[in-house]
Amino acid sequence: MIKKIFLAVLVLVIIIAGIVIFNTIQFSKEIVSKPAKEIPNLPDSAIRHLQQAIQFKTVSAGDGLPVDTAQYVAFWQFVEKNYPLVHQTLTHQSFNGLSRLYKWEGKHPEQKPYVLMAHFDVVPVEAATEKLWTVPAFDGILKNDTIYGRGAADDKSSLISILEAAEKLLADHFQPERTIYFSFGNDEETIGHGAQAIAKYFEENKIHPEVVVDEGGEITVENFTELKRPVALIAVAEKGYMSFDLTVEMHGGHSSTPAPETAIDVLNKGLVHLREKQMPYQFLPVIKEMLNRVGPGMPFLQRMAIANTWLFEKQLIGEMEKDKSSNALFHTTIVPTIIQTGIKDNVIPTIAKATVNTRILPGTTVEQVEAFMNEQINDPRVKITHYSPPDKVGPAASYESVAYKKVENATYQIMKSVIPVPFLSVGATDSKYFQNIADGVIKFSPTIDAKGFHGIDERIGVSDLKRMVFFYQIMLQEAGK
Ligand SMILES: [Zn+2]
Repeated sequence: MIKKIFLAVLVLVIIIAGIVIFNTIQFSKEIVSKPAKEIPNLPDSAIRHLQQAIQFKTVSAGDGLPVDTAQYVAFWQFVEKNYPLVHQTLTHQSFNGLSRLYKWEGKHPEQKPYVLMAHFDVVPVEAATEKLWTVPAFDGILKNDTIYGRGAADDKSSLISILEAAEKLLADHFQPERTIYFSFGNDEETIGHGAQAIAKYFEENKIHPEVVVDEGGEITVENFTELKRPVALIAVAEKGYMSFDLTVEMHGGHSSTPAPETAIDVLNKGLVHLREKQMPYQFLPVIKEMLNRVGPGMPFLQRMAIANTWLFEKQLIGEMEKDKSSNALFHTTIVPTIIQTGIKDNVIPTIAKATVNTRILPGTTVEQVEAFMNEQINDPRVKITHYSPPDKVGPAASYESVAYKKVENATYQIMKSVIPVPFLSVGATDSKYFQNIADGVIKFSPTIDAKGFHGIDERIGVSDLKRMVFFYQIMLQEAGK
């Protein structure tokens, strides 16, 4: 009997091993490469323009908080002066006061237009980090072929690159096949009222774009070192953005006679419990597709796991969860970002409040996130309320859409041996407002592992800027072709 069981188990193991090896071998084909083009050199003025653009303090401090409007107005004057052909040839209108929509009429205005997006507001530089920057954050310093400053990567380089590409093509008397819109948002770093208003204008005027391209994914060599090839992360969807307030209200009083538990204690424990566990992982089709496209180039063990997710899904995801960037592709993330409480060192506060930011996977609802938070905190004294209205994130673009194919094709042209893959943007972008009115919305710009997003020493290489201008030039030249 025992012998029979042993034999059955052995046969089963052999069958499973056979399937695993068969799938892995089937999967091990060479990933296609297409010839790239030589990227034309940039005029010095292009570099200077980005340096100057950084110098405008177009800082979004928070939704509803005042901004230095003069900086935004001056920014547009700078654009008009330095991109004279764009200013003369394209029409523009303002939205939300400071956002702009440019329209470049194509040869076939009856066909669906393309929209290239960027934003020119930036996040503030935390006062405490100012001295950690190697250069002043708003001087637009060029050092070692690298442009430094807040907005260098996020996202003034995109806006400047789009304008550089357009100005150059206009100088060559080019007219696009399709009508092209440039949608430039002034408050992406808060709510994106500007982009929202522009998307509403499209909707009301029944303008239905075929292709929308905004920031989101980029090219990486650092995240797939095993491949020894650059990977273009072409985001077809993004996570939802939603913040909550956790509030505890309890008797405060004199700090000389504290009760066993105070509002701060209760809030603290709530936050600790909240952070003990993540929401369960989800293996979204877009991430599966991404892995399917890089998998054949991976070392044997990873390749085997990707080719056999029916057996190794848990191990594969467990491995990817160890890195915070790839972890965010599998989980709705929940993290406290602001704590407010206390007024004086000898007063126990009555109210303790934390703001928690969540990034919600497509398909997960705000109610599910809230339920998870309640379950984890498990203390009715911690009240959860909405800090901001929930994001409405539309459907993902298909990898078969014109938008995806156009961007994919452009990445082949700008980067030798690149592997383009569909991706999920973990950050929120202005383009979410277009997801319900366009055929395909893609979030991608071709920087390579840009540094300092929302942090210290934000910067991009001159080579990145060069590649970006060429990318947008190709997008413009090939729109509708
Ligand atoms: Zn951005």
